[in-house]
Amino acid sequence: MHDKLSDIRSREQKLLCTTYSRYPIALSRGFMSRVWDVDGKEYIDLLAGIAVAALGHCNTEIGQVLTEQAGKLWHVSNLFYQEEQLELAERLLATSHFDKAFFCNSGAEANEACIKLARRYMQIVRKRPAYEIITLDGCFHGRTLATLAATGRENLSLGFTPLPEGFSQVPANDLGALEAAISEKTAAVMVEVVQGEGGIIPLADDYLQGVQKLAKDKDILFICDEVQAGFCRTGTFWAFQNAQLTPDIASTAKALANGLPMGAMMAKDEVARAFVAGSHATTFGGGAITSKVAAKVIEIMVRDNLAKRAKELGDALAAKLAACMNRHPEAIKSVRHRGLMLGIDVEDCPNVWQKLIHRGYICGLTHGTTLRLLPALTIEEDELFSFVDALDGVLSE
Ligand SMILES: *Cc1c(COP(=O)(O)O)cnc(C)c1O
Repeated sequence: MHDKLSDIRSREQKLLCTTYSRYPIALSRGFMSRVWDVDGKEYIDLLAGIAVAALGHCNTEIGQVLTEQAGKLWHVSNLFYQEEQLELAERLLATSHFDKAFFCNSGAEANEACIKLARRYMQIVRKRPAYEIITLDGCFHGRTLATLAATGRENLSLGFTPLPEGFSQVPANDLGALEAAISEKTAAVMVEVVQGEGGIIPLADDYLQGVQKLAKDKDILFICDEVQAGFCRTGTFWAFQNAQLTPDIASTAKALANGLPMGAMMAKDEVARAFVAGSHATTFGGGAITSKVAAKVIEIMVRDNLAKRAKELGDALAAKLAACMNRHPEAIKSVRHRGLMLGIDVEDCPNVWQKLIHRGYICGLTHGTTLRLLPALTIEEDELFSFVDALDGVLSE
């Protein structure tokens, strides 16, 4: 049954750097919220490439734009003006209060741009020797050296020291701790409105508003990392809009181009003016194909009001999961969600997760304790809700 998988496994061991502990599935095909493995087994995909394929796998509308652009222009570099970037920027900036965008290729790179802009704004525009970025315990901001320092988890940075200076973490939902950590060296505070890799931990709205107010009072910048929570997933286009926040800078990536690698940093005009020609750059950022695809992603999300859909479907699923928790109080310890971003803490989680895979349901296994659900925002209701029956079944075995 699994000989194809074990063959793939041993080829990989020979060929690839060992950086991932893979799920025991080799996928070969996908359509919307279904994926098929190399043996032809079908799964309902509740992870969507970690919140990336938010409009589904092989979305036909997106595919059309992709193939059209593939016959027109791929990459010419940022030495040239490109209207595709402008079309994307117009659509992207229309979703929020931000004035300016910078395009790159990943979430970590988008956060690097946030960090560099914050430092440069303080040091060049404000002429203050500030550089420190304060982040929160449980956060995740990426794997480059600076974003590892921002993430601040020792197990992730083991063997990679020294990390860049100027990052510190404080406990989440504790304004006093944040206030105590702010000094004349502080340039910004950076948060995930819903901590994703941390296990789907939504931060309290009044805390987030307190962070924004504190940043304003202390004259430092407020940055939101929207790489995972952004793009309609939590019920508003940006997760910070749930809490009526207007950060100075934000990052996005995962769902931006529905699977093509792309990230973006967005900023208010006042802050963005810290970047001048030559301040920051990337070869691939905002290429014609990725820009054209991302612009289409935003068009579809707005046209089909997928933020509202995410909220309605997510709330309905969470209610069903709460009922499931009542049926299995010893097994399900907690259900957290914002829209279609859900975390379910389950006893003996790896075993439950493995049995769900056996029943044809793919979800994330986070920290060995939490089932993480980040389905496509286009997932069919019955596909989504059938997960609860599968979970019920597994927990009744
Ligand atoms: C995934 C993620 C990142 C890193 O994105 P990459 O594209 O893997 O570099 C950063 N921040 C958050 C919140 C993420 O979920």
